[in-house]
Amino acid sequence: MSLNIHNISPSKVIRGEGAWIKSIDSITKLCKKPLILGRSNSTKKLRDSFENDLLLKGVKVISFELDNDCCEIDIQKACLHSKNNNCDGIIAAGGGKVLDAGKLIADLLGINCITVPLSASTCAGWTSLSNIYTPDGKFIKDVILKKCPNLLIFDHTIVRTAPPRTLASGMADAVAKWYESSLTSNLSQDGFVQQAVQMARVLRDQLFLNGYEAFLDPLSNSWETVAEGCALTAGIIGGLGGARCRTAAAHPIHNGLTQLKYKNKPLHGELVGFGLLVQLHLEDKNSNTQLPKQAKSQLIDFFSQINLPISIESICLINTSSNELQKACRFACKGDSDIHQIPFPVNEKDLFDAMQSFQSLPTSSKINL
Ligand SMILES: [Zn+2]
Repeated sequence: MSLNIHNISPSKVIRGEGAWIKSIDSITKLCKKPLILGRSNSTKKLRDSFENDLLLKGVKVISFELDNDCCEIDIQKACLHSKNNNCDGIIAAGGGKVLDAGKLIADLLGINCITVPLSASTCAGWTSLSNIYTPDGKFIKDVILKKCPNLLIFDHTIVRTAPPRTLASGMADAVAKWYESSLTSNLSQDGFVQQAVQMARVLRDQLFLNGYEAFLDPLSNSWETVAEGCALTAGIIGGLGGARCRTAAAHPIHNGLTQLKYKNKPLHGELVGFGLLVQLHLEDKNSNTQLPKQAKSQLIDFFSQINLPISIESICLINTSSNELQKACRFACKGDSDIHQIPFPVNEKDLFDAMQSFQSLPTSSKINL
């Protein structure tokens, strides 16, 4: 067996009700003057309260607001701000892109990293990967980091208050783990990969079983299973299975779709979920069983229940012309794209045709808006 190096999980994970306040001692062991990183106005109050909590324990906090998605220019500015203030750690509090930015800044500066996901929209709080975008949100590349965060704080009391849309997006991203990893890694002889793929299957089943209730009721037991599945377990699967377990076509299609302009900016998982439907359509065209077709219709029903986009119409593009969609397909099919990891060849035209079949809402699905 060739040598494999894994970053499986954060050094410490503190999860549950009131996890933030119970983590203060662990934070003070990791840094004395952290840079607290965030972006959206809606989380500003929360970040201010984090600063106060830390100040009460004698930890002076320097704050920094990102202007955009996780992009080079913001990363450079934040690194400079951190250096100028002699910060010795990063606390990234926000959604996936803030967490990705925080991990990358800590990695570049060689300082400790604490992630505090404020929603369950992705597993970015867990992993040793950061996605880099342009300032206006076009995917550029992912960067493999030296390690997972030193500490992940998953505070149920806080995450429960996040908009249900973020949880739905997290479910699409997490459910994709099974469909992507099983397609690319089903024949792997590596025990870790096999176990990661099975974990992805169990996670998918739990999301199917509990996802709708979790989406409707953040106080339900289902919510805990689902939110932690999306934000934490999905990360373990990536850590255990490695790069091969991460992507097939759904994520490369997401990357291509981020190149386009939107009326309302979609969340990561919303585009991954749509990419997953397109992936299953491609699989169906290249398969002699009914399984991909059945999986696609099962997912269309599930996504409809939790208000996830299931058509080109519903991802809210400004321009849905063939030219625009071809731009996304060209990006997704670039020579070095992971889309070529799938076990059959796919080119821009195949992908474009597959996408076209989702032009408007499928009539067979139950829409529950
Ligand atoms: Zn993802």
